[in-house]
Amino acid sequence: MNQLSDRINKLSTSATLAMAAKARELRAEGKDIIGLSLGEPDFNTPDFIKDAAIQAINDNYSSYTPVDGYVELKEAIINKFRRDNQLNYTLPQIVVSTGAKQSLANVASVMLNDGDEVILPCPYWVSYADIVKLNGGVPVEVKTDITNDFKMTADQLEAAITPKTKMIWYSSPCNPSGSVYSKEELRALADVLQKHPNIYVVSDEIYEHINFIGGHFSMAQFEDMYDRTITVNGVSKAFAMTGWRIGYIGAPGWVARACNKYQGQITSGANCIAQRAVITALNADPSKVQYMIDQFKERRQLILGLLNEIEGFKSNEPEGAFYVFPNVSHYFGKTIKGKTINNASDFSLFLLEEAHVATVTGDAFGNPDCIRISYAASKEQIVEALKRIKDVLS
Ligand code: PMP
Ligand code: GLU
Repeated sequence: MNQLSDRINKLSTSATLAMAAKARELRAEGKDIIGLSLGEPDFNTPDFIKDAAIQAINDNYSSYTPVDGYVELKEAIINKFRRDNQLNYTLPQIVVSTGAKQSLANVASVMLNDGDEVILPCPYWVSYADIVKLNGGVPVEVKTDITNDFKMTADQLEAAITPKTKMIWYSSPCNPSGSVYSKEELRALADVLQKHPNIYVVSDEIYEHINFIGGHFSMAQFEDMYDRTITVNGVSKAFAMTGWRIGYIGAPGWVARACNKYQGQITSGANCIAQRAVITALNADPSKVQYMIDQFKERRQLILGLLNEIEGFKSNEPEGAFYVFPNVSHYFGKTIKGKTINNASDFSLFLLEEAHVATVTGDAFGNPDCIRISYAASKEQIVEALKRIKDVLS
């Protein structure tokens, strides 16, 4: 008999992590799998950050930290928000967590009651829907597609709002589409929200620095949205620190206090060594990590060019993050190498089994016509992967 809670039984496995695990399994069997599934920079954490962590160990940082993070780290976050986003937060508005994923889970947990609706412009990051559901919320998907660059319009937002709408969650730059909302586009959404003063926004800005067009804008920069926006960020992507597990929010004080209370019962706060290292990371000039962003930009051009040469892949031009999200519905209903492809999940599995390239099905992001390909991989791997994909499809 299944003794697990209904809550966990209803939860899906994270498709990004599941695909990464599957790729690892196949590799252990001796298969030469190229992993383009996980959104994880392939760079090492920069030495100046590693040195700060080593120093912290030698300085005997080993005790529990304040639940919401070291004051020095919260000050570094406040400075970062001011320097990069022209956002003014104070110490009680900042909470440091075990990755932005936990920041998001905290916010869902402290904000949502059963039946509260959360609007998710589709495609959305894989974990949003499940984090919302886990906390009793109801995800409301707003479909977008390549024709509007995968961005939700003001009209679509207006149409999705009901008396039960509590929040809107989006990422910009977007995982998985790479789209970046401009100031004007965010203003149009904010104008709609002016008519609905009880709706809050989660602005996930974890790819902020991986932006190829410049001009990152935060929803909280609008004065009338500041008190209604939870700005989520972290160091996993820009600083190549996925395994260090540090994320944070800047939020209205009452939200931050609730997250602090929640975290105090759940984790007691984030890892002390990682927090010390992140103080150094955030206080550094962002130009120190520009070499990684330059690389991602080159790889984006490379992969877009190569995708163009493969029949049936329709892509937008991502403006940030490190993913392409091509529509592959051209292949639905076709049988290749004896395998019938009915949907994006079949297609992604086909690529794994036949081309030995790991991608993620668009279903996981609320778009069943697309697959996500991460180009946080070396140029050699990208070239080889796309060659394999082209070969098995032709
Ligand atoms: N938001 C988005 C859009 C992401 O792609 C990720 C990927 N890890 C996260 C949040 C969570 O990041 P982390 O927990 O590693 O800080
Ligand atoms: N955010 C990354 C991704 O989308 C890492 C995996 C995860 O945290 O789910 O692939």
